[in-house]
Amino acid sequence: MGEKIDYVFKVVLIGDSAVGKSQILARFARNEFSLDSKATIGVEFQTRTLIIDRKNVKAQIWDTAGQERYRAVTTAYYRGAFGALLIYDITKRQTFDHIPRWLEELRSHADKNIVIMLVGNKSDLDDKRAVSVEDAKEFAQKEGLFFLETSAMEATNVEPSFMTVLTEIFNIVS
Ligand code: GDP
Ligand code: MG
Repeated sequence: MGEKIDYVFKVVLIGDSAVGKSQILARFARNEFSLDSKATIGVEFQTRTLIIDRKNVKAQIWDTAGQERYRAVTTAYYRGAFGALLIYDITKRQTFDHIPRWLEELRSHADKNIVIMLVGNKSDLDDKRAVSVEDAKEFAQKEGLFFLETSAMEATNVEPSFMTVLTEIFNIVS
């Protein structure tokens, strides 16, 4: 018996190249991880259906597929997005310093009620940390964003990152 889908929520992944967007998506959608960053280039979006409050929710997660290098993320990418994961690499300070730009771009293109989670990825590389948890928390609080550190490699906090955003969207639209 096919299950009926009650809701489809589009969520976009944004952030600098190589922060781990595609691997976070691979972990969430297929429970996979690869050290080869080229593995998922060209994929537009992936879906996973979950149950929230006894409703079938299809999460449609969009990945930039390399466009971030040319600042060519288009308006179509953001169109209809209910949520966003704004991702940096905790070992690369520059990727965190670029977050305000990504946030500005997101806010200028997306719906004003979009649910945003700031994600510090690669928490498994704590010995190479270049961004403190305190700095990220302070920024998230100031901007009204959720915040978590993740490791796509070790599958830490990936599920909670998406579930927090999807549940918040669900609470807004249902
Ligand atoms: P994207 O350009 O943002 O899509 O980044 P990718 O997902 O392609 O990842 C870039 C590189 O970082 C790849 O070599 C990944 O294997 C690696 N990577 C992604 N997530 C993690 C993580 O959580 N920990 C570690 N150590 N490496 C990661
Ligand atoms: Mg990618």
